[in-house]
Amino acid sequence: MSDNHIEIWNNCLKIIKDNILPQSFKTWFEPIKPLKLENKVLTIQVPSQFFYEWIEEHYVNLLKKSLEKELGPGSKLEYNIIVDNSQSSSGNPYTINIPTKSIQKSNKNEVGLPLNLNNNIRNPFIIPGLRKMNIDSQLNPSYTFENYIEGDCNRLARSAGFAVASKPGGTSFNPLMVFGGVGLGKTHLVHAIGNHIKALYDKKTVLYVSSEKFINQYYDACKNGNHNDFVSFYQLIDVLIVDDVQFFAKKEKTQEIFFQIFNHLHQSGKQLILTSDRPPKDLKDLDERLLSRFKWGLSADLQTPDFETRMVILESKMYQDGIKLPKEVVEYIAHNIDTNVRELEGALISLLAQSSLNRKEIDIELAKKMMKNFVKHSSREVSIDYIQKLVTEFYGLTVDQLKSKTRKREIVQARQISMFYAKNLTKASLKSIGTYFGGRDHSTVIHACQTVNDLMDTDKKFKNDVEEIGKRIKINTF
Ligand code: ADP
Ligand code: MG
Repeated sequence: MSDNHIEIWNNCLKIIKDNILPQSFKTWFEPIKPLKLENKVLTIQVPSQFFYEWIEEHYVNLLKKSLEKELGPGSKLEYNIIVDNSQSSSGNPYTINIPTKSIQKSNKNEVGLPLNLNNNIRNPFIIPGLRKMNIDSQLNPSYTFENYIEGDCNRLARSAGFAVASKPGGTSFNPLMVFGGVGLGKTHLVHAIGNHIKALYDKKTVLYVSSEKFINQYYDACKNGNHNDFVSFYQLIDVLIVDDVQFFAKKEKTQEIFFQIFNHLHQSGKQLILTSDRPPKDLKDLDERLLSRFKWGLSADLQTPDFETRMVILESKMYQDGIKLPKEVVEYIAHNIDTNVRELEGALISLLAQSSLNRKEIDIELAKKMMKNFVKHSSREVSIDYIQKLVTEFYGLTVDQLKSKTRKREIVQARQISMFYAKNLTKASLKSIGTYFGGRDHSTVIHACQTVNDLMDTDKKFKNDVEEIGKRIKINTF
């Protein structure tokens, strides 16, 4: 066999090199290996399915021209994609030939390919050796539209969410940005959208990720040299849900990579769904380019539910949990807790707990007693010192331990809960909260608040602790 293919390919590379950026050349062309040349058909080997798609999408014309220059009209390119088929018993690399002609637009279905031939992609979300359809969506099935109560406070967001869920990528709500304060139902709504899409379109890959997880994964990917895998993984997703994008603030590198992923998905008609605790215009420290993308679709806000809606929410929660309460008690709660849905739920749970603990019927008296601990009167503000004191008492720790550098789990957790309440119950800035905890910076405080919120969603015991601490702080302060 002659080495003609190598020479031809090298000549093509010379032309390509003159026409693209050095970095792109390095990324996309250096890893390619010429394999053979037969009847004007040059076969090249590429490292992955994603690689092949990228080349087809971005460089097909350049490739065609350079090949024609070398081999004359009628020349063709074939790809040979390496798949690390660690699942297969034969151990042979599994290769596939794809004639360029038949996939001008890299339409995967046309050539009947499984969507993710590249099993090399290393990502915590992907189950090794499996295909794209098996990516775990990370959705919580208990957050649905059925149990997402509609009210004036969420009508636009809910109906836009429903439209997106019925036709992902097919509405002008792309991205769909849901924003609103803590506990107002952002996370619930975006999970509901994801779950609905999964029920309607079982072939679509849906992925829910908190911005924090995204940041951490990206960090790990860079550390482990899997940067490309990270990007290619995210570019496979049909419906990408990123929760709490405000945490991208000041993370320039992450914003850059997210920008790239966003553009790729958006251009391919994939759906993006984002949430944020504030409207896009108030997302400080976010790159302008990214912000302007966020405004492309629809931004819909969630507001504090009004009394009627609070009543319906309470009734539906009670119904789900099989509890019955006197109407006046429900009304009493709905009247007094007017902050957000999470607190509304919290009040209901506390009331149930109190009643079972004291073996007392839930009546208006008990509700009033309990509510004293819950309802905030803003007359006196709680201090961070005081929060630290109560939290450390609760866990049998000292304030010095809280401020120390130790990373012992129970201390870290107590520290995070204290930061969480310092953020939520005082007007102190993130920076000054940080200084109260042994000179930590603001991002540590943000991280702490996010961790507490996340753990409350997943860990019942933790949630109880946090709520109990919250009650103690409030009883003694207000
Ligand atoms: P956020 O992400 O905005 O902080 P979550 O989505 O975590 O808020 O909502 C907090 C709690 O309130 C969750 O348990 C959620 O199920 C509940 N919730 C919020 N909005 C509604 C609603 N409209 N109907 C029913 N439950 C709701
Ligand atoms: Mg949330």
